[in-house]
Amino acid sequence: MLIDGHCHAGQGDQLTAPWNTDAPLESYLRRARRAGIVRTVVFPAFHTDYATANRELARIVAERQPQLVGFAMVNAKSDAGRVREMLQEAVMRLKLRGVKVHGHEALPTREVCEAVRAFRLPMLVDVAGKAHVIDMFAPQYPDVNFIIAHLGSFADDWRAHERVIEQLVRYPNVYADTSGVRRFDYLVQAVRRAGAKKLIFGSDGPWLHPGLELHKIKLLGLPAQEEALILGGNASRLIFPRAVGVRHRRRNTGSVMQFARHDVR
Ligand SMILES: [Zn+2]
Repeated sequence: MLIDGHCHAGQGDQLTAPWNTDAPLESYLRRARRAGIVRTVVFPAFHTDYATANRELARIVAERQPQLVGFAMVNAKSDAGRVREMLQEAVMRLKLRGVKVHGHEALPTREVCEAVRAFRLPMLVDVAGKAHVIDMFAPQYPDVNFIIAHLGSFADDWRAHERVIEQLVRYPNVYADTSGVRRFDYLVQAVRRAGAKKLIFGSDGPWLHPGLELHKIKLLGLPAQEEALILGGNASRLIFPRAVGVRHRRRNTGSVMQFARHDVR
């Protein structure tokens, strides 16, 4: 199943750039369909109030089931003190399945990591070039799966790509998405060194074309099995953990997770 692991949906409220104004899905969905993408992970555009943005996102996701999978967004700084409460709503009421944090606003804090762990969610982090912070949070939370957006930098920071590739090798719980990576050889290097099991195809739609981003993965010329991991296998494993494993875990842990994964398919 072809999954796009990085796309935005809904409206932002700051109106100073595309990424904080609007992420309309009409063109994206047409392009994704043509490219053969059957599932897309979406999260809000930049917003000053993620409680509101997450609710809007959930409405958009609910209208397009099962095509869209929603991730909640939190701002580790402005939402400090209420992250767990926000994720509780996101998981239980809004049926969102992961969390996105953007370094332009605030990098993941202990509060965010603790909450994400409690609900057993994957966390997509845009470190905005600050790859060194991965060396802080990844070993502190070995049971949280972190997906590093844009292989560490949307802004073509090759030093960040190099460091993230090395972190993919070192940390079993660190993955990266391929969206918006311009220098193709860093994708080649990432697969060669870390293996296809550590990369997740993402488009950064609706602003980047999913067909174009998908073509980059095809151009890697990987064996079918490895390509399939990048194009959906890895995302599927992180976002939809096996119900069997969940049942086993439920017996040994607190009450939060019983709700967190009750609708796993
Ligand atoms: Zn993005």
